[in-house]
Amino acid sequence: MGVKVIPRQGSSFKDKTYVWAIFSGLKVTLKKFTKNLANTNATTTCEYPEVQPTDISDRYRGMHRLTHRQEDDSVRCVACFMCATACPADCIFIEAEERLDGIDEKQPSRFDIDLLECIFCGYCVEACPCDAIRMDTGIFSIVAKQRKDFVIDKEQLLKNRGAFGQENSLA
Ligand code: SF4
Ligand code: SF4
Repeated sequence: MGVKVIPRQGSSFKDKTYVWAIFSGLKVTLKKFTKNLANTNATTTCEYPEVQPTDISDRYRGMHRLTHRQEDDSVRCVACFMCATACPADCIFIEAEERLDGIDEKQPSRFDIDLLECIFCGYCVEACPCDAIRMDTGIFSIVAKQRKDFVIDKEQLLKNRGAFGQENSLA
């Protein structure tokens, strides 16, 4: 098999010293730096956590929540395990129980999500046939001192509310 020889580019003295390339790179950095310094409001970064972002997209995947039925505010989840099956991180733990109010056959008695294992892919939301789990809480800063505190349970998931005014979009 023949070897194709690619000629080396930039063989002049200027190219070999890299000085010109370094200074043109620094020129761009300096230009951006002075522009941002002159108008700090135009910068795309903020001094988090002192400054909290205010322009979170409604498509942002934050901490999960379990949605409620509009009729009686009870849990919409029917404990079908579709989300747990779709979860690539295997971090959803559900225990089902019979639902005795006649609204559905089942509901979760336990619904835990381990946020340290979650990769926030959103597959659970996509897999749910009932729109019962969402990630639109806008909660992106999750702090705890112990690993066990990163496991959120059914009560916490039901307490979380949508941050983008979509509560009433549920059928
Ligand atoms: S966001 Fe992804 S990793 Fe996290 S619980 Fe849902 S499916 Fe699992
Ligand atoms: S959240 Fe949705 S997919 Fe997961 S168990 Fe409940 S109904 Fe099924």
